[in-house]
Amino acid sequence: MSSLFQEDRTVRVGILLLGCALILGARAEAQSCRTKGVAVQVLGSGGPELEDKRASSSYLVWEDGRARVLVDAGGGSALRFGESGAQIAQLDVILFTHFHVDHSGDFAALVKSSWFEDRKMALPVYGPEGNDFMPATTEFVGDFFGERGAYRYLSELLVPGEEGSYKLQPHNVAGSAKPMEVFRSGDLAASAVRVVHGGVPALAWRVELGGRKIVFSGDTNGEGGLKGLAAGADLLVAHNAVPEGAEGVERRLHMPPSVIGEIAAEAHVKQLVLSHRMLRTLGKENQTQAEIAKRYEGPVEFANDLDCFAVR
Ligand SMILES: [Zn+2]
Repeated sequence: MSSLFQEDRTVRVGILLLGCALILGARAEAQSCRTKGVAVQVLGSGGPELEDKRASSSYLVWEDGRARVLVDAGGGSALRFGESGAQIAQLDVILFTHFHVDHSGDFAALVKSSWFEDRKMALPVYGPEGNDFMPATTEFVGDFFGERGAYRYLSELLVPGEEGSYKLQPHNVAGSAKPMEVFRSGDLAASAVRVVHGGVPALAWRVELGGRKIVFSGDTNGEGGLKGLAAGADLLVAHNAVPEGAEGVERRLHMPPSVIGEIAAEAHVKQLVLSHRMLRTLGKENQTQAEIAKRYEGPVEFANDLDCFAVR
């Protein structure tokens, strides 16, 4: 009897291990974005809530196996950055949509990690201007790494005249409703528009690379320049932070699925990825998809951490 029980247990443990191996296998595949061509990797597919068990907003744009652009750096995304196999030393630029914690909380951790890499080139950081509630990009970076910053022990990465291996170069982008190119390096260009995210200064970004156009909505209620920026995009990453029917503050900050669908359709985007998934939208994927499908006929995918989307 006991040996029968033992065998049964062994089989069950075996099945469990096989299951783990399959899950790990799938995960390992999801992590690899180091392929030929242009691809977007979702480092963080969640919002601010830790209970969603997702890292907060962050994306990498890869080209031919090299991570070239980082968009946002929400909490948890620094770990995902490491898991992705990317290196700060390889990045051309960091772009911020805005400075809510779930879009910027891991910035200092990424910079500290770069200390152990061999970066020599300056690292440009672009993000919005400030207002009474939020710092401008230069102020945000300075609050960490400036002479009086919280992490002033790393000030050589920012303060002119101090000897660091490289320098962070923060820039404030005013942004308007019309797309404006703010960064170019070879075949890589980044353009921004101002979007509405309550009273928080916020930008949407378009990255053009290898002949592909990728647009990141950031957090927005859909007003502002997003539709114009997204015109003809090969991939639009939109934030699924509120369900259909959201009202009040939620609606002033975020776009419901119907608005995402409308913008994707009118901008003729080729592929739509939904991210910034929160407890209030998780589990409502069918409803979300149905609302979008009433307006937009293209492919729609829901993002998970480390997913890699080839941009063709
Ligand atoms: Zn957010």
